[in-house]
Amino acid sequence: MDARGAVARISLQAIRHNLKVAKQQAPNAKAIAVVKANAYGHGDLRVAAALEPDADMFAVARFEEAQRLRAGGIQLPILLLEGFFNLEQLHHAVRHNFHLCIHGHAQLEALERTALAAPVTVWVKIDSGMHRVGFAPEEAEEVFSRLARLPGVVQPVNAMTHFARADEPDQRAVTEAQIARFQAATAGKVGATALCNSAGVLAFPEAHADYIRPGVMLYGITPFGDRQGTDFGLRPAMNFTTTLIAVREHKAGEPVGYAGSWVSPRDTRIGVIAVGYGDGYPRMAPAGTPVLVNGRRVPLAGRVSMDMATVDLGPDATDRVGDEVLLWGEGLAAEEVARHVGTIAYELVTRMTARPILEYV
Ligand code: PLP
Repeated sequence: MDARGAVARISLQAIRHNLKVAKQQAPNAKAIAVVKANAYGHGDLRVAAALEPDADMFAVARFEEAQRLRAGGIQLPILLLEGFFNLEQLHHAVRHNFHLCIHGHAQLEALERTALAAPVTVWVKIDSGMHRVGFAPEEAEEVFSRLARLPGVVQPVNAMTHFARADEPDQRAVTEAQIARFQAATAGKVGATALCNSAGVLAFPEAHADYIRPGVMLYGITPFGDRQGTDFGLRPAMNFTTTLIAVREHKAGEPVGYAGSWVSPRDTRIGVIAVGYGDGYPRMAPAGTPVLVNGRRVPLAGRVSMDMATVDLGPDATDRVGDEVLLWGEGLAAEEVARHVGTIAYELVTRMTARPILEYV
């Protein structure tokens, strides 16, 4: 009667395989592996170390994430997708070969004012349609020429953009317009270019350019809401599991869990599993969300609580305390669970808490 709590078993082999799939899709491009947000919950140092032989660069959002990778021995250039926000970060970037995404005037002006010990590599972010950060295409020419005057910047500068809707098959025209705006603003004026997130890698080969920036597909997850990674030859990298900690006889008409929100229509067996929102399993997962108990699909019954969730094992179930439960991974795609919850698989894997044990295989 041995039971354990939630475990996220990460396959570094699957992640390496998924990078190969991305590179096969874009055979003429170099690969910037996106490992921000703790490698989408998979453990950034372990993931980056596993990918370092096959990737050309890494990308993270925050300065501290890049520092962590360097301190952990990662040697490839690291692109800071948010750039820098003070001079200490700027000088540090030069010393540690962080590439800087420059997405606004404050950063441009700081670069103009600052003498650097060595030139820094800059990626100018063009806002081709996401309308979040970046220079308008009409500003690009002036930005490039101001950067061209700076001895502290590697010449020529690079340029990048980010797609807002490349994951929506019925919105191809939106992405095509982004690609056209970016190309018009940059052609013949910059060094390397990079446009593609995972959706771009998989659906817009014409935009692969010099570098691709795959993120979620490295973890075996597709960005397309109605598909799953295995449709594209990707392997799920995270098997999120737990165990049954109780199996109870339950009478028809009786509620289960907080607020009595689920009432059993029949006599059944309820399994209690050791996972809850304290582990990062979403509280919003409704009754009916599938889990695999001993490889068999069964539905959640009742609300997810902090440490436990309950499943309807059925009247004839023979499952026992200690048996394994898969929450998502091989055999139950995180994308499918996300659809039940009303979110995206990106969020499920990224918001794991510190409680589940991370194991690497
Ligand atoms: N490039 C940029 C600028 C990003 O912000 C992200 C992630 O949001 C990515 C690439 C990777 O995107 P995805 O995980 O959809 O491949």
